[in-house]
Amino acid sequence: MRHALITGVTGQDGAYLSKLLLEHGYKVYGLDRRTSTPTTERLYYLEVADRVVLLDGDVTDQGSMVRAIEVAEPDEVYNLAAQSFVGSSWRQPVLTMQVNGIGTVNVLEAIRLVNPKIRFYQASTSEMFGLTAEPVQSETSSFHPRSPYAIAKLAAHWTTINYRESYGMFACAGILYNHESPVRGIEFVSRKITDGVARVKHGLATDLRMGNLQAKRDWGFSGDYVRAMRLMLQADDAREYVVATGRAVTVQEFCRIAFAYAGLDWQEYVRVDPQIARPADVPALCGNAAKVKAELGWQPTTTLEDLIAMMVEADLKRVRDERC
Ligand code: NAP
Repeated sequence: MRHALITGVTGQDGAYLSKLLLEHGYKVYGLDRRTSTPTTERLYYLEVADRVVLLDGDVTDQGSMVRAIEVAEPDEVYNLAAQSFVGSSWRQPVLTMQVNGIGTVNVLEAIRLVNPKIRFYQASTSEMFGLTAEPVQSETSSFHPRSPYAIAKLAAHWTTINYRESYGMFACAGILYNHESPVRGIEFVSRKITDGVARVKHGLATDLRMGNLQAKRDWGFSGDYVRAMRLMLQADDAREYVVATGRAVTVQEFCRIAFAYAGLDWQEYVRVDPQIARPADVPALCGNAAKVKAELGWQPTTTLEDLIAMMVEADLKRVRDERC
């Protein structure tokens, strides 16, 4: 039986990846940082909480990483732990660098020390392309990170490549574009919109305050994207892969589709609030996933419309249940 250790197991992708790996017969261990309230809600939502073995640890504490790897004896480590919200990274730049940057070094060092044959996946991000001049980005596009989050992720990305080149470790990185689900953090724009739709629909809100409506993103479904992570660790060679749908739309278009799904006109409810704007925005990101499709046979299966419908449905139900 293959063993996997997932850092960030309590996050959106950690929960979907746990479900996928369990379906493939893995024994799944997850790194769980100590918090005063439980953070396993997503694992319960996807009905995997009782099958994931949680190990105390924090990626900023190298000793805890060494211990987790010694206990789990993983064949594969998926490093998903992060301060993952771009907006917060300006308010907590040092923490973001420690978790997203140094944290990745800690995980790689722990693997190198305990068992360098373990295969390693790093959760890299399209935000590393940032202010790119290329309208559609691929693995060969240049990086221009525009936030402390993206800068820390780029450091982790190059560290991953460096461990492969320096020590011959199987260390690869997926450059993933935005991916969402009903368990996406509520502060992220997609979920903020679908939650806002549900609140308006159930009479709990009269408007939805938004930042830049013209930002364009390439949005996919987390359940599809975690398949690409697993495929990368089954490949013959460790590589970098862009994972994206290839279709980018504006935040405004996302609003239109989400409100329309609930039978509402977005223009009646969405208000632009300049206070929500970011110090340095990324205007547009759209990915070319030709390499992961050709080399690993990955395909996304969920359209943007299906994704938004799934998220609005889940938020309508949740808000209704909370009211009862
Ligand atoms: P998420 O829902 O915010 O989950 C982040 C996870 O990291 C949570 O389990 C969190 O634990 C954990 N974590 C935070 N600080 C930690 C620390 N110091 N030690 C150990 N664990 C820590 O993020 P996600 O959407 O699942 O994304 C997964 C990864 O992919 C992240 O690295 C993210 O930056 C990257 N990524 C995401 C996207 C996307 O669109 N979703 C796109 C590209 C890349 P708690 O539950 O305790 O907070």
